[in-house]
Amino acid sequence: MNAQLAKLRTALLLVSWLALAGCATNPVTGKREFALVSQGEEISIGQQQYMPAQQSQGGQYQGDPELTNYVQAVGDRLAAVSDTPLPYEFVVLNNSTPNAWALPGGKIAINRGLLVTLENEAELAAVLGHEIVHAAARHGAKSMERAMLLQGAAVLTAIGVSGSDYGNYIMEGAQLGSQLITTQYGRGAELESDYYGMQYMARAGYDPAAAISLQEKFVQLSQGRSSSWLDGLFASHPPSQQRVEKNRETAAQIKSAQAQDWKLGQATYQSKIGYLKSKTDAYQALDQATTLARKNELSAAYTRLDRAISLEPRESRFYGFKGNLLFNEKKYQDAVAEFDRAIQLDNGYYEFFLGRGMSHSALGNQSQAKQDLMRSNQLLPTAIATHELGHLSLAAGDRATAKRYYADVAQSGGNLGQSAANSYIRLDLSDNPARYFNVSAEVNQGQVIARIVNRTSLAIRSGVLSYSAVINGQPRQGQARLGAISAGQGIRVSIGWRISDADFVDRLNFQVIDVSL
Ligand SMILES: [Zn+2]
Repeated sequence: MNAQLAKLRTALLLVSWLALAGCATNPVTGKREFALVSQGEEISIGQQQYMPAQQSQGGQYQGDPELTNYVQAVGDRLAAVSDTPLPYEFVVLNNSTPNAWALPGGKIAINRGLLVTLENEAELAAVLGHEIVHAAARHGAKSMERAMLLQGAAVLTAIGVSGSDYGNYIMEGAQLGSQLITTQYGRGAELESDYYGMQYMARAGYDPAAAISLQEKFVQLSQGRSSSWLDGLFASHPPSQQRVEKNRETAAQIKSAQAQDWKLGQATYQSKIGYLKSKTDAYQALDQATTLARKNELSAAYTRLDRAISLEPRESRFYGFKGNLLFNEKKYQDAVAEFDRAIQLDNGYYEFFLGRGMSHSALGNQSQAKQDLMRSNQLLPTAIATHELGHLSLAAGDRATAKRYYADVAQSGGNLGQSAANSYIRLDLSDNPARYFNVSAEVNQGQVIARIVNRTSLAIRSGVLSYSAVINGQPRQGQARLGAISAGQGIRVSIGWRISDADFVDRLNFQVIDVSL
């Protein structure tokens, strides 16, 4: 039922987009191309997906607001000379993976893990210029259109919440952004972004050669690392020797056409990145703690975390991760204390509210749990938080709200989705039993027999069948008690009516009206 609903919704979305489709000139390349998604839609998709996409990638880095301002200033300088006026925004994410991404509509992010590998401001400009082109030349929108045309259905996006035993999923509606930023662009889009990004760099006065050294560095990094690390590294922008060569040609072209005192901005960059670089050991300790926790070496993980905290006591993620570990060990009160500390430092990251809400729920603090889980869902709607909100609503006697939450989670699939679907059916079965049984009637040697099939995956302990008919102009009705019916099984019940071939039977109606599990 839910899968069909989701398909229908996607189909409707597709239809509404197709209705708006037409031909448009690409603002960057000047080429005419078929466009399913209008610029206005791109901008609104980018705006809607920016927050959940940031949240699913670690949230914003708060440790050094000056660094964020600086990255924004460099981005703004490039955006001002780009070919498409979009509402560009630039943020730094609290993520150790060397990556950057752009959503349609000019919403761009760069990880702190990439910032610390850059040498100078021109290399930063090369990264941001490249991302600006992805947005400006509609690369994300095009891959979205491809996905719409090819499959038309959303793929589930799993996120790693370190404090949970079960798979967690971003809920419908917030998934699109995560898909867009993890989809690999085609080689053509990468080359186009490099080429025009370098033009923007040059227009803003940056040495376009920085795009060569940047690409060389990525090729080197990708060769020297294990493949699991590579999965994270530039998952969407695969580095290549071909890109190095092309960038060399483009830089030579630009420099031969234009003599200028090209800017690298080495000293400025090194001073702006100084604080973050001085905390490299602290973040390394966090990454080690994460690996250790995955291998279930908890005491070593705590030791690494305490080391991280001593090196950078202002980093909320360290306390949050400790909270996750404590939650896993069922030390809920201690977990709450760590999440409190994390939220004091950063009250805009969903994982802290999710962890604290789950801990409060385990402690029986229902109203605090509800408040935290709702805040978590505002930042990034997840299946875990929604499922727990369903339980809390049910415990408070609000069946209708509980059903709504369970129905939402059921759409997200996975183990949690299955469990939510069962919780939903458990409630709805009592509210609307008729929906869950196929009932048919047959006549066997003059006896009317009702055949009742339990279509759910739950066993029924007992129930009541209500039946009525008009026989030879006389209304008749009655009820029969039903015994146990296993999941997916059927039973036959004689209702005690006798009918012969001469009888005229009209308006026969059988319904299961009451069920206990
Ligand atoms: Zn790219």
